[in-house]
Amino acid sequence: MNFLEERILKDGIVKPNNVLKVDSFLNHQMDISLMEEIGQEFHRRFADKNITKILTIEASGIGIACFVAKEFGVPMVFAKKSHSINIDSEVYMAEVESFTKKTKNNVIVSKKFLKQDDRVLIIDDFLANGCALQGLIGISKTAGATVEGIGIVIEKGFQIGGQVIRNLGIQLESLAIVDAMDAETGAITFREQ
Ligand code: 5GP
Repeated sequence: MNFLEERILKDGIVKPNNVLKVDSFLNHQMDISLMEEIGQEFHRRFADKNITKILTIEASGIGIACFVAKEFGVPMVFAKKSHSINIDSEVYMAEVESFTKKTKNNVIVSKKFLKQDDRVLIIDDFLANGCALQGLIGISKTAGATVEGIGIVIEKGFQIGGQVIRNLGIQLESLAIVDAMDAETGAITFREQ
């Protein structure tokens, strides 16, 4: 069992509707030593990719992506939620449905911060149905940038996102893959990796 799986078993809480709560260490209160370890682990897995930019999505990916960007020594850019209905010609945009809130948001990245010669590593806290990642991949493609890989802290392997993204042929690295979880007993089963 790796460092993250151990922490999920210790402090993760299984909620109804396939939601895993990890807000005591990952995406509300953040354990900074754990964040550093996560940053180092993604750096180790993508070290040969010549990454020029880390891309994530507002809000909970931002903290993690900062630690990854620090390891690579490159900027971190996050897709911002936009409430404007007039899409500015200076931004790339994608529509993303929130897994936890079930609402749809337009997310935008300024054209200034994503360019054709960028080699992008996409980072997020969770992978469920893959909607957030598809939005980020779409934005990168529109910019003409190359998606060199995707780093996910917790993939829920019983939802379709992992398979959809792997079918695209992109290197997807998940630090923990939850294959099953039970809201009644609190049991969590990880995939052997
Ligand atoms: P997807 O777009 O893959 O369906 O969902 C990924 C996004 O939804 C992530 O950015 C994450 O913020 C949120 N998310 C999905 N599943 C969970 C979960 O079980 N727990 C938490 N805390 N967030 C989740």
